[in-house]
Amino acid sequence: MGSIYELTRDEVGERLVGEPRYRVDQLWRGLWAEARRLDDVTTLPAAVRARLVKQFPEALRVVSEVASDHGSTRKWVFALGDGATIETVLMHYRDRVTVCVSSQAGCAMGCTFCATGQAGFARQLAVGEVIEQVLFAARAAAPTRLSNVVFMGMGEPLANYAVTVTVLRRLNEYLGLSARHLTVSSVGVAPAIERLAREGLAITLAVSLHAANDDTRSELIPLNRRYPLERLGRACATWVELTGRRLSFEWALIDGVNDTERAMGELADYVAPLGAHVNLIPLNPTPGYLVRGSTPARVRECRDALRRLGVNVTVRDTRGRSIAAACGQLANVARASATGELTIRRRSARAIGGGASG
Ligand code: SAH
Ligand code: SF4
Repeated sequence: MGSIYELTRDEVGERLVGEPRYRVDQLWRGLWAEARRLDDVTTLPAAVRARLVKQFPEALRVVSEVASDHGSTRKWVFALGDGATIETVLMHYRDRVTVCVSSQAGCAMGCTFCATGQAGFARQLAVGEVIEQVLFAARAAAPTRLSNVVFMGMGEPLANYAVTVTVLRRLNEYLGLSARHLTVSSVGVAPAIERLAREGLAITLAVSLHAANDDTRSELIPLNRRYPLERLGRACATWVELTGRRLSFEWALIDGVNDTERAMGELADYVAPLGAHVNLIPLNPTPGYLVRGSTPARVRECRDALRRLGVNVTVRDTRGRSIAAACGQLANVARASATGELTIRRRSARAIGGGASG
């Protein structure tokens, strides 16, 4: 049996058969509204709690925690029951508190610039393993209320489709997070985007575009060979049409690869019919991909070029850069320090001009 967060409300009720009805309410409120650990739902009698704790062990064990940006960004590496590791990042902004969750341990998509992609796939996460990340972060954020969840940690959420959709529904219904404040980031699994558009979820979809010509995109993102830009564009159009929700494209600026005048023109052409929003972010260096992110000056030039072309564009801040918060990087550092590889990785990070020394 896994985490208690695998269970629906009815299923939780079934675990308390023989107890008075209000016990179910107490447990449910403790777990969700109060975001308590099972062991800490002290409204329940100790014996009942002890039985449940034994039956439903917590899914996550903290392996390491790092903070940056003066404590407003915190990142955890968790070990799961079988020893697989994942990571979760909590970010405090002026107007919101966002947790970035992993949907898989590792990722099978193999994007060349991504630390998770370089490390490969371990396994799918279960519903409770994703939800526990959110509740862990909610406790860490308290007394400030967690407001947003983004699926931008390790893994491709639409390659763990059923789990992702179940988690989204429960965060909305059980935790009370507004669907608009839930964001799924996808590398572009076209049929899954179309399916998601029919789920009736008023969430935000972010598609990791990074290039708007097939040659470059296929080099960065192998999945582009299966779902090239034209196919992906059709799925994005379906999303916009069926949900009426804003679509955004992520674009990690890579020096000399996708930060050129020409690349900005291609992006503007691709975005125009979809009315999508573009988020620019300089690439974070990773050990396995020896190019740099664009310079801050180049990032501004790209932003200005897109504005002139009529594109809605934001430059995303590089939260957690000093703790390597981008996609899988801290897990790599944790693994490397365990195997003594850390110095090599540090050196290669420096060799490509990065500051991500963990
Ligand atoms: N698999 C999903 C979600 C996880 S990745 C996806 O690819 O969208 C979350 C975001 O981090 C994606 O936009 C991804 O392209 C980006 N990313 C991965 N490696 C990065 C790096 N080294 N620098 C900047 N962004 C990166
Ligand atoms: Fe997977 Fe996303 Fe990384 Fe690509 S960018 S390897 S899809 S986690």
